[in-house]
Amino acid sequence: MQNSLWLVGIEKLPINKLTTSLNCDVCIVGGGLTGIYTAYLLAKKGVNVVLLEGNSSVGIATTGHSTGKLTPQHDAVYAKLLQSFTVGETQRYYHANVNAIESAISNLPIELYQKADSYMYATTEQGKKTLEDEIEAYKTLSIPGFETLETELPFEILSSIKLPNTAQIHPTNFALHFAKLAMKEGANFYVNSRVTKVVIDEKTVYVEDDLQVSFNHLVLATHYPIEAVKGLQIAKLSVDRSYLTATKTSELLKGQYISVDSPSRTIRTALINNQPYFIYGGSSHIAGTIEDTQNYYETLQNEVVSKFDLPKPEYLWSAQDPNTADSLPYVGPITENESNVYIATGYRKWGLSNSLVAGEIISSAIIKEKHEAADIYNPSRNQFGKTMLRMLNLIGFTVANLTEGYLTRMDAPKCTHLGCRTRWNDGDETWDCPCHGSRFDKFGNVIEGPAVYPLDLK
Ligand SMILES: Cc1cc2nc3c(=O)[nH]c(=O)nc-3n(C[C@H](O)[C@H](O)[C@H](O)COP(=O)(O)OP(=O)(O)OC[C@H]3O[C@@H](n4cnc5c(N)ncnc54)[C@H](O)[C@@H]3O)c2cc1C
Repeated sequence: MQNSLWLVGIEKLPINKLTTSLNCDVCIVGGGLTGIYTAYLLAKKGVNVVLLEGNSSVGIATTGHSTGKLTPQHDAVYAKLLQSFTVGETQRYYHANVNAIESAISNLPIELYQKADSYMYATTEQGKKTLEDEIEAYKTLSIPGFETLETELPFEILSSIKLPNTAQIHPTNFALHFAKLAMKEGANFYVNSRVTKVVIDEKTVYVEDDLQVSFNHLVLATHYPIEAVKGLQIAKLSVDRSYLTATKTSELLKGQYISVDSPSRTIRTALINNQPYFIYGGSSHIAGTIEDTQNYYETLQNEVVSKFDLPKPEYLWSAQDPNTADSLPYVGPITENESNVYIATGYRKWGLSNSLVAGEIISSAIIKEKHEAADIYNPSRNQFGKTMLRMLNLIGFTVANLTEGYLTRMDAPKCTHLGCRTRWNDGDETWDCPCHGSRFDKFGNVIEGPAVYPLDLK
């Protein structure tokens, strides 16, 4: 079984299971960074908030399986965004992330984050071309990054873009910090309380053990929305899975790195209990489509030894994140008509800073304040051509996987979301669904939605 470096020795917060039905002003489903930060911002404004988390702790799901880079350098996204958005809109994406990071870390104890320069690098001609386009986008958008060949990497690179003065965090401790602040401000958190049904017309969510929570506003901060039929997110979001490792090292890097080559690689260091760790990861595939994931871990382990002259990593973990058609997350009302139900998803593996932006956008909407980036993050934004193409592709992909599962994996358990046959993931020992990325442990318990019910393993 794999284990994330960020989950070792974390604090156990005193949060109970929901035991009675409740009414609240804002119900937040999901205790990752998105849900926690939204709860914190709302509770600080005196709003009555209930947060329901299906796991035994908050901050341990995707947030606790990330790389912990808190930066607006979201790999080579700015050239891509300029294909779908205007210069002004793309600048607002950048500034929303910069401002949200600054605001979150402004009063943070210094041990909760470190300053680190962010680098994107290329070792191939194709990667070099990607960086040439990206630096042009930086110039157009006045992003203060620049090209350099000076890095701490122990191998030759062809090009890199440095964005100075960004941050890195221990993502779980960071999330737990804001969870404690939110609860101190009066937010009510519950763990082991999985929401199994959302009935928007009744303004009620149904929780395991026959409990209900009634709300005026609902925030689905479940990573992949558990209600994804409304607004058709189910046909708009694809889900990619990637791999990470950590090994003891003797020194800390000043920078944090990501390659734009294929397969990509991500690099940073972290100090855990005075011990420096080298974190190395990458590769990507559509969630639920690969059985032999052990192979991904082995490749990374071998590279740590051969390229960085370090021992074989002792921590191995993986995670997944949804993507949108135009590379900008969906944050805001689930549909134009349901303005009291919010989603926050599609972070494309840059959801730590985007969770903070999401918290700001959703809390502003609830307290009726304007947020400068709400329109560009709006899930109903008009990207008709791109979105239609994506929807056709994803519907085709889902139908192909559904059919393939019934033809070739009849004995694999059926996902409780829409009935696709799951696939065994040997590296993580989980049952993963190729259709929408739901995951289950070897006993069938839900690890990750959109599924909300366990597998029938009989
Ligand atoms: C390999 C990898 C590395 C990454 N590295 C970075 C990085 O360095 N920097 C960066 O900015 N981003 C990074 N990301 C992205 C980032 O980690 C995520 O986008 C972000 O953590 C998502 O936060 P979240 O709160 O939306 O989701 P999560 O942290 O997954 O939280 C969602 C919560 O909802 C709960 N939940 C789900 N369904 C229910 C239900 N029915 N009832 C109750 N609770 C429910 C889950 O249990 C979970 O706790 C990375 C992603 C991956 C895959």
